[in-house]
Amino acid sequence: SGARVRRAQNKRLPQYLERGVDVKFSDVAGLGKIRLELEEIVKFFTHGEMYRRRGVRIPGGILLCGPPGVGKTLLAKAVAGEAGVNFFSISASQFVEIYVGVGASRVRALYQEAKENAPSVVFIDELDAVGRERGLIKGSGGQERDATLNQLLVCLDGFEGRGNVITIASTNRPDILDPALVRPGRFDRKIFIPKPGLIGRMEILQVHARKKPMAEDVDYMAVASMTDGMVGAELANIVEVAAINMIRDGRTEITTDDLLQAAQIEERGMLDRKERSPETWKQVAINEAAMAVVAVNFPDLRNIEFVTIAPRAGRELGYVRMKMDHIKFTEGMLSRQSLLDHITVQLAPRAADELWFGEGQLSTIWSETADNARSAARMFVLGGLSEKHHGLSNFWVADRINEIDSEALQIVNICYERAKEILQQNRKLMDAVVDELVEKKSLTKQEFFGLVELHGSLQPMPPSM
Ligand code: ADP
Repeated sequence: SGARVRRAQNKRLPQYLERGVDVKFSDVAGLGKIRLELEEIVKFFTHGEMYRRRGVRIPGGILLCGPPGVGKTLLAKAVAGEAGVNFFSISASQFVEIYVGVGASRVRALYQEAKENAPSVVFIDELDAVGRERGLIKGSGGQERDATLNQLLVCLDGFEGRGNVITIASTNRPDILDPALVRPGRFDRKIFIPKPGLIGRMEILQVHARKKPMAEDVDYMAVASMTDGMVGAELANIVEVAAINMIRDGRTEITTDDLLQAAQIEERGMLDRKERSPETWKQVAINEAAMAVVAVNFPDLRNIEFVTIAPRAGRELGYVRMKMDHIKFTEGMLSRQSLLDHITVQLAPRAADELWFGEGQLSTIWSETADNARSAARMFVLGGLSEKHHGLSNFWVADRINEIDSEALQIVNICYERAKEILQQNRKLMDAVVDELVEKKSLTKQEFFGLVELHGSLQPMPPSM
């Protein structure tokens, strides 16, 4: 009868196994060096014997830390896919049950299945839901979570160093995990997955574009620079929405414009998550519009990629993205004129505030750019770029600091007047940009330069690439 029981067990379908997981590292983009760490985990499976012979301890658990949507789940699947092993997954919120003992028995079942079908990856999503430091949990749920957590610790210890079942868990809060979980032999390896940067975002867009009918000349960089602050999940969504756009229009190829539109829709979703009063939207719009309108008057700064007032992680205001790579440097230094223009642009928000709201009602939203202007002006003087001190070699001596400051202040004042003058000459353009920003929250390069042509009192050159 023992054999019959065993057969029955074998026939039981594993509940936590994900079938058909066929993710490879090439499906995960924008990782940079993190990829090397994950390749090593794959080797724990494929070259486990070699590691053991050399006395290298194989970790029982790996913690992927990072905000939602950066691809932690995808990565765990890719590790299983590359190693060619089974993938078992559970979300830790499923552990947290009302009935005492349910969570613990699920953990046991999960590891039982993983062991029976080894080699395998066990993936635990949102580990912090169950792994919170025990002292932090108050009330009746605490007891149940203790039991679940204890069971998890037992299971982790059971596989330590064997390399045939490796646990990968994800969390956005590694700081609140129970210390017992991160002890050596358990989740003793942390890998941080940050939000993607500009290049990362471009690569992620490209990965998702692989499976779609893209136009040949799609400008992924333009979309990447529009999507600052977004994560992989949002970028994947942009490609999907762009495809729907194409189908709706009865076209057969996805264009840059489809992607840009989809990016704006995704961004609106992000916006809806953050409320601002109409007055604040307008004030931020004036702030950003002023920089863009002044910058467009300067040859080195006019290559504006986009203007936005969309709130972003870690940034209260919007911003103007200018391509800086063509700013002229002479012998490693910013040229005199470029630096003055730069200072003028940084003072534009302050100048606009005065012009639009009056001296009596100044806000403080320009304080950061004003600080930039001040330090740039000091740099200007210290760098010996000012006429008065041009070429002075022993300039940096203590008794001249006051002189430096007063000269920097003079430069700031001159630039400030210049910013005001440009803004006054371009009132129509300012109003148009502000209105559009309040309405749409972001302007693409094309939209912005369209307004410049319509309302600007300058002679616009075509935006150079
Ligand atoms: P997390 O587990 O960090 O919350 P997911 O792995 O669930 O994020 O990501 C959701 C989806 O977003 C993925 O299935 C994938 O389509 C996309 N995605 C996220 N990050 C990336 C990335 N780095 N490269 C490619 N696609 C990604």
